[in-house]
Amino acid sequence: MTKHIALTVDVEPDWGVSGTRALQEVAPRFLRFLEERGMRATFFVVSDLMDASPELVAALGERNEIGSHGRSHRMLDGLDRPEARREMAESRRRLADTGRAVEGFRAPFFRRCHGFRGLLREAGYKYDASLGSVAPGPLNGRLGALPCPFEWGSAWEFPTSAMAAGLLPLSLTWLRLLAPAGRALLPRSPSLVYLHLHEFLPADTAACLPLPLRRLLTRNCGEAAWRILDEALAALDAEFTTCGDMLDACAAGRPESETGTG
Ligand SMILES: [Zn+2]
Repeated sequence: MTKHIALTVDVEPDWGVSGTRALQEVAPRFLRFLEERGMRATFFVVSDLMDASPELVAALGERNEIGSHGRSHRMLDGLDRPEARREMAESRRRLADTGRAVEGFRAPFFRRCHGFRGLLREAGYKYDASLGSVAPGPLNGRLGALPCPFEWGSAWEFPTSAMAAGLLPLSLTWLRLLAPAGRALLPRSPSLVYLHLHEFLPADTAACLPLPLRRLLTRNCGEAAWRILDEALAALDAEFTTCGDMLDACAAGRPESETGTG
């Protein structure tokens, strides 16, 4: 039986701060990486990147899914309600200019604001993928133990999966930081993997980060990140797909982890 895992990719200003090299330089190669392996992914895109290249953003949706990662990558919990509403609703409208349905949302840094679920509904999203963490801690294990996706009120949720005995989020960031040991810490049956396009940029593109953070976050970025991701995905031995497809499988009444097709 084929395991299905949602492969989710955050497409944002480089290193979460500024610059569009990840979109311009990494996105085309990442699309080839997926296609060569028969994989698909959901790209959670910061809609302001449409200013840099609407064509490249649209290309992300050609055989993959586009979701929203907000308008500007600001943390929602630091904004007032009208501004948070704009981040969620306007980003969805802007990304829909690609001609694709935009059904999913991921909050920048997984930071949800007060009244988040109401804003999600109001903006018309079908699912959220912001139940997660970037930092180590027991929360990762608790989220990883939840079904993915699960229905919560009027929307669906895609919580992050955990690695390292539930202490870390299953992300390329932690696989890079811990490489080569990270691969031994992979969980047996995860549901979701997340990464960022800027992780494939060379370290010198991270000058926007303060020095201690730059040293930490750029470990094994660039070319090494391609190899680390490829090896981890191969070790997980699953069919990598979009959140939208996993939802469709749920709607069709099939457990998303066991379709009996493989
Ligand atoms: Zn982000």
